Amino acid sequence: MITLRDVSKTYHRKKISTEALKKINLQIEKGDIFGVIGYSGAGKSTLVRLVNYLERPTSGEITVDGKHLAELNPHNLREIKKEIGMIFQQFNLLESKTIFQNVAMPLILAKTNKQVIQERVTELLAFVGLADKAASYPSELSGGQKQRVGIARALASKPKILLCDEATSALDPQTTQSILDLLKKVNEEYGITILLITHEMAVIQQICNKVAVMEEGNIIEKGSVVSVFGKP
Ligand code: ADP
Ligand code: ADP
Repeated sequence: MITLRDVSKTYHRKKISTEALKKINLQIEKGDIFGVIGYSGAGKSTLVRLVNYLERPTSGEITVDGKHLAELNPHNLREIKKEIGMIFQQFNLLESKTIFQNVAMPLILAKTNKQVIQERVTELLAFVGLADKAASYPSELSGGQKQRVGIARALASKPKILLCDEATSALDPQTTQSILDLLKKVNEEYGITILLITHEMAVIQQICNKVAVMEEGNIIEKGSVVSVFGKP
């Protein structure tokens, strides 16, 4: 579903270059819940931004759903981006919009028919357990509820892949557990492949089937969670 071949990324700021990724190789299969773990600065966010095509690799090749990202024209790129949803540590909700409007936003931007938006958002809010919050604003919700909104919004355009960037790092352990349960349900019921980055081992052990360990721009270990970390 996602492959990276010899992918490197070097940032140049003033006179300093940072090799954020050093010839990374990774293969994420359809249906995986794939975790990438490492300390701050290891290169995890850079990896996610490359897969989402928010940034370009310095060298190497990335394919998503069989397509080479570097070879896509703007139209195809927009299509493939619809296949990728993303959730964030800080949720990134629009504070001045209702929960319904937040979830509807990707569909509004894609000029989706109003009736379809109404049905789809209603279904998604029910799926994430927030059917009664449609008219609320983000400031009225807890952190866990905000992340549920983030998940519903990410699912609006029916992606095949969900990228999770430290999605539970701002949440307490109990809320983290409930969000991880929801992500598992997203994977099982919608068949969505999940790429999750975290600095927390417990998150990997709770929901991932595969893991890559990153350190200073390198993948130092990868495989099934059991083979890398042993039995929990
Ligand atoms: P992680 O997500 O594991 O914390 P990042 O991918 O954010 O790691 O960062 C990897 C390295 O690249 C760090 O040294 C970071 O400072 C650097 N870096 C990340 N983004 C940029 C950027 N936009 N410009 C310059 N350096 C960056
Ligand atoms: P994250 O690791 O999730 O990217 P950070 O707080 O490290 O979070 O970075 C916030 C933003 O700043 C990111 O969008 C990243 O591109 C940028 N950034 C990260 N490290 C650097 C850096 N060393 N120099 C410039 N920009 C950076």
